[in-house]
Amino acid sequence: MEDALLKGEFQVYLQPKYYLPTGEIVGAEALVRWVEPSGKIIPPDNFIPLFERNGFIIQVDFYVYEQVMKRMQKWKQEGRRPICVSVNVSRVHVRTYDFFQRLNELIEKFQIPKEYFELELTETIMGSAQGMTKDFIQECKKQGYKVSIDDFGSGYSSLNLLKDLPVDILKIDKGFLDETAESERSSIIVEQVVEMAKKMKIGTLCEGVETLKQAEFLKGIGCDMAQGYLFSKPIPMEEFEKMI
Ligand code: C2E
Ligand code: CA
Ligand code: CA
Repeated sequence: MEDALLKGEFQVYLQPKYYLPTGEIVGAEALVRWVEPSGKIIPPDNFIPLFERNGFIIQVDFYVYEQVMKRMQKWKQEGRRPICVSVNVSRVHVRTYDFFQRLNELIEKFQIPKEYFELELTETIMGSAQGMTKDFIQECKKQGYKVSIDDFGSGYSSLNLLKDLPVDILKIDKGFLDETAESERSSIIVEQVVEMAKKMKIGTLCEGVETLKQAEFLKGIGCDMAQGYLFSKPIPMEEFEKMI
């Protein structure tokens, strides 16, 4: 894996995020892929759990952050309108002492406004060491980053989390859009979550939008943004650049 990192086999893909009222691209999420020399693409679910166990995820994540910022700097130099890019923050970072120092160094180096660099934290991050993680989320905000809660609703602490944490965006878990027998209940939950977030002045994004019907529903209930195969799969950065 170290060899692969040096050889540039980890590639950053971007998946666009759409503002539902206008259909405009307002952001993107960075998702890593391992592209073997043969061209075979290994999806993150096949290596991230391992990298979280052996600690290598720290290097991969920072590699992703640097690639994203480098690209954002290029867009700025080309005079493009600024676009907010989110990155995934593994729970492993919570236990390290220099996460913000390293991140801030990159921000300095590439001169990226922090409010355009969004940190996606999953609810499961909240699992064991709750106190520390609340601190971690609070520190993200204090440092000036935009913060979103990833896979919102898939964990057990969702509401508790909202009670006292200053987050910017809820990324509603794609599980709520599954077309199953429970779909009516799911849509009620999504609708109420969106309404609740609005009252708290928190933005909402629904993940895994695959059908027009789902997009129409989300637009109808006032969900701000959507991300999913209906609009676009995660794509190489060069392709994303052409889209915007
Ligand atoms: P995630 O953060 O929840 O990312 C969303 C996942 O949903 C992505 O899978 C994306 O390709 C997929 N997706 C997007 N639209 C749709 C859709 O319409 N339908 C369906 N079924 N899926 C959709 P991906 O890229 O395979 O990533 C899987 C997970 O791996 C991510 O889940 C994230 O937890 C983790 N991950 C990916 N890149 C990174 C990274 O750079 N660092 C860290 N720490 N974790 C990462
Ligand atoms: Ca994510
Ligand atoms: Ca997610």
